[in-house]
Amino acid sequence: MLVALALTHDNAIALCTSVGNLIGGLYLSPDLDIPSRPWYRWWIFRFIWIPYQKSIPHRHYLSHSPVIGTIGRLLYMGIPLSLLLGAIGMLNEAAILAFSHWQIILAAVVGIEISCILHLAADGILFRR
Ligand SMILES: [Zn+2]
Repeated sequence: MLVALALTHDNAIALCTSVGNLIGGLYLSPDLDIPSRPWYRWWIFRFIWIPYQKSIPHRHYLSHSPVIGTIGRLLYMGIPLSLLLGAIGMLNEAAILAFSHWQIILAAVVGIEISCILHLAADGILFRR
């Protein structure tokens, strides 16, 4: 949060980057490709990630690479989220809200990506030759 605050001088952006980082580490980890702690945190909603686990081998570049892994998980999660929002008639409102606050969304995505990069570094994948 301090780094984001120093770079942006914006409290809201820094907070959203930090919250994104937290959510990325706890719930949107690259290790959603296996039954892992982040996967168990999804509680009754963990079934959402079963097709992801069946389709992507553990530590495959689609789950364990910078940018591609994060965007893939966000798009993957976006499908059931869009269906849910559509079912309750909130899809248009959510899209308008997201587009009107794109800086906040981008800050959260950057935070999620930072957690992914830290995960890849901890896995020893990021700097592998
Ligand atoms: Zn991993």
